[in-house]
Amino acid sequence: MDDKKCPESKDSLGHKTWVLLHSIAAHFPLTPTEKTKQSYKDFFETFPYIYPSYSCAKDFQELMSSTPPETESRESLQLWLCKVHNIINKKLNKQEFSCKIKDLELRWRKGPPECYPEQADDIDENNIVF
Ligand SMILES: Cc1cc2nc3c(=O)[nH]c(=O)nc-3n(C[C@H](O)[C@H](O)[C@H](O)COP(=O)(O)OP(=O)(O)OC[C@H]3O[C@@H](n4cnc5c(N)ncnc54)[C@H](O)[C@@H]3O)c2cc1C
Repeated sequence: MDDKKCPESKDSLGHKTWVLLHSIAAHFPLTPTEKTKQSYKDFFETFPYIYPSYSCAKDFQELMSSTPPETESRESLQLWLCKVHNIINKKLNKQEFSCKIKDLELRWRKGPPECYPEQADDIDENNIVF
């Protein structure tokens, strides 16, 4: 384990932030109430205003205006976030990610069997791993 106590770099903070945001989307309730839909929308719209990297935050604010959060369902939120992340990937000349729901589920909620060596036969549909 890295025991250096350094502040996050832009890349490290960005990576951890995407992990958090995609995990939030992947665990969005399957039957959200209107209040839940609005809370998640408010969260994603507010987030760019508190993101602690000025250049990233500014782009993210603009993206929230041009491509507003889609919180009707878990699937719509996951697909929206994938699209938004790919816009940033493209800008940074990074490879785009497949925005098929099965690929997003595999990456952010279910994981391949090697993620669960001791319980591979024991993963249910609503597996919550953290
Ligand atoms: C809101 C925001 C704005 C940013 N703006 C900038 C910027 O303007 N300039 C800059 O230099 N950096 C910016 N960053 C950081 C940048 O996006 C990366 O996080 C950083 O470069 C590290 O990249 P990475 O290769 O670790 O993968 P990341 O892009 O951090 O992705 C993390 C993981 O997410 C998965 N993934 C990738 N794309 C998708 C997708 N579309 N859908 C689902 N999963 C996906 C992959 O498994 C990947 O390993 C921003 C980050 C955030 C959160």
